[in-house]
Amino acid sequence: MTATGPIEPVDAGTAVVRPPLRRLHVKTWGCQMNVYDSERMTELLAPLGYAPIDAPENADMVLLNTCHIRERATEKVFSDLGRLRDMKTARAAEGLPTIIAVAGCVAQAEGAEIAARAPWVDMVVGPQSYHRLPEMVARAHRAAGLQINTDFPAETKFDLMPQARGAQGAVAFLTVQEGCDKFCSFCVVPYTRGAEVSRPVSAVVAEAERLVAVGAREIALLGQNVNAYHGQGPDGAVWGLARLLARLAEVPGLARLRYMTSHPRDMDDALIAAHRDLPALMPFLHLPVQSGSDRVLRAMNRGHTADDFRRIVDKVKAARPDIALSSDFIVGHPGESEADFRATMKLVDETGFAIAYSFTYSERPGTPAAAQPGQVPPAERAARLQELQALLRRQQDAFNASCVGRVCDVLVTGTARYPGQIAARSPWLQPVHLSGPASLIGQMVRVRVMGAEPNSLAAEIMGNSQTGEQQAA
Ligand code: SF4
Repeated sequence: MTATGPIEPVDAGTAVVRPPLRRLHVKTWGCQMNVYDSERMTELLAPLGYAPIDAPENADMVLLNTCHIRERATEKVFSDLGRLRDMKTARAAEGLPTIIAVAGCVAQAEGAEIAARAPWVDMVVGPQSYHRLPEMVARAHRAAGLQINTDFPAETKFDLMPQARGAQGAVAFLTVQEGCDKFCSFCVVPYTRGAEVSRPVSAVVAEAERLVAVGAREIALLGQNVNAYHGQGPDGAVWGLARLLARLAEVPGLARLRYMTSHPRDMDDALIAAHRDLPALMPFLHLPVQSGSDRVLRAMNRGHTADDFRRIVDKVKAARPDIALSSDFIVGHPGESEADFRATMKLVDETGFAIAYSFTYSERPGTPAAAQPGQVPPAERAARLQELQALLRRQQDAFNASCVGRVCDVLVTGTARYPGQIAARSPWLQPVHLSGPASLIGQMVRVRVMGAEPNSLAAEIMGNSQTGEQQAA
């Protein structure tokens, strides 16, 4: 988003005293939850006069919202901080102050290192303390020195973050749960995001209604373990994700629901039944399995076996035969033998994924896997990843090809690259390109899929849809 027009004090000289407008540049790494948090932090800083701009140059404040999942991502944060030091110095020579803030999981996990390696950073704020950002910025304006806030406070940030959501597109994200109690050996989330916390049902429904009021037709519920959702219902009982989805499906104007990311341990029968019973719940499930070897799954502390995953997949396919399955894989976890890797390949082969994300194991300081013996040599990890990705690629191509000829409803999300073309999203989460007027943006349109590309579908319009349901050909 780019601020338009000159950035000047507003209402100067009138009875209404508003803060001067300042430029805010936010750079976001990592998952959809970070994208959501960046939007909320931008909204949180608006009352202090901060308007977002696209580039860091000329920004009065730069906020890096970081991800700690990949080691190289952390190094990229430090290299950005190096460039920002030069910018801050140049602006200071012109008498212009610049606030540099680091948020997200790198901030939470490596606050002390940031302070040591990048002393020009003004504030380090962990994901559970974003609601304290305005106070920290106000203090930074008073030059109170480096501020670090990486506590897990007693109050939840959900209660204290702003409720207003600005103009949205047809697709919106809504965080319903945060944190993780699972402690997988390779993951820093339990250390950076804290224990599992769920928002009350009434707060989620109210936010969904606001999102629909500003144009959302599809909402994706977000959470590090979204299917561990256990929010307080209006009846005082604890509601699971299935019940929450059923309630949200009643929100007028909301055509589609999705949720991510799920854990196999929390995939209960009620949630599987929701895929059968709720037409608004799209036939797509992202369910990370990480490995097909029970030995590796134990070493990862995943709390489920490969057969547990197979049983869930069988039930989900029975409930929703056209479901598109997605997953995450880590190749080369410490101790992974050739036989373990073959077990992963077998699981992938049997399951059939519409899309999947695969990585080599990356050592994260401070997580148990980093200290485990049997580290797999990097060349071996890379070779296994290549083999796995080739299989996943073939499965993705096959899934996309299987969509050709299907009649389904797509949600038009925007214009596409070529004149007269619009972009949409299929029930199975593929981008769809079709010819049509921009006036269809935000509408459900019935199409026939005419072609498949590696990462998208081409379709022809058959007519507008009011149902939001898709039909098999
Ligand atoms: S379930 Fe495991 S991988 Fe997922 S956030 Fe929790 S610790 Fe990380």
